[in-house]
Amino acid sequence: MSLNVLGIEDESFNANHLEAKVKVYQDEHYHEITPLIESHNLQINSNNYLWKDSALIVVENNDLRRGVLHHFHSSITARHPRIAKTIQLIQPFYWWPHMKDFVTNYVKGCATCQMNKINTHPTQPPLYPITSTSSLPFQTITMDFITKLPLSCRYDTILTITDHNVSKASIFLPCAETIDTVGIPALYATHIFPHYGVPL
Ligand SMILES: [Zn+2]
Repeated sequence: MSLNVLGIEDESFNANHLEAKVKVYQDEHYHEITPLIESHNLQINSNNYLWKDSALIVVENNDLRRGVLHHFHSSITARHPRIAKTIQLIQPFYWWPHMKDFVTNYVKGCATCQMNKINTHPTQPPLYPITSTSSLPFQTITMDFITKLPLSCRYDTILTITDHNVSKASIFLPCAETIDTVGIPALYATHIFPHYGVPL
């Protein structure tokens, strides 16, 4: 279950701000985009910015591209549309090479989308109490996310890891909502494993 603790929109990526950042980045990295013009049929407008039809080109910068995805997919107003819908929403405004792959990977790795997947099994499985015979902490654990927090040092989500053995203690690890199946074990390996090892 995700907790929308504060429900505050991330102000650093509002639409105007984002477009301004993309334009500044185009200015500063013009030499990197000029080779794309012919191969992708791009246009330069009177202000010298590069477009593909109505879409502004987002130059090689994954932070900016994630900003676009945040705005059109993960922000509170966007409400996590599916992959095809997210692409459809972005297309009139922004474009970069292999954008569909980028969007697909982003949405597939979106922790909120993973947690809110529609349950296709109508029969509810029985609930089993979490039991453990271990007397050592963090041998039986549960994980959860607290999402939609205001951005702080590039983090907007907290991964909680709770010990169901002796201590019932929780450890809170800052991460991004886009954390994926590679990122979660990496966090575990860095912060929990050195102290408590691998769960049973
Ligand atoms: Zn999502």
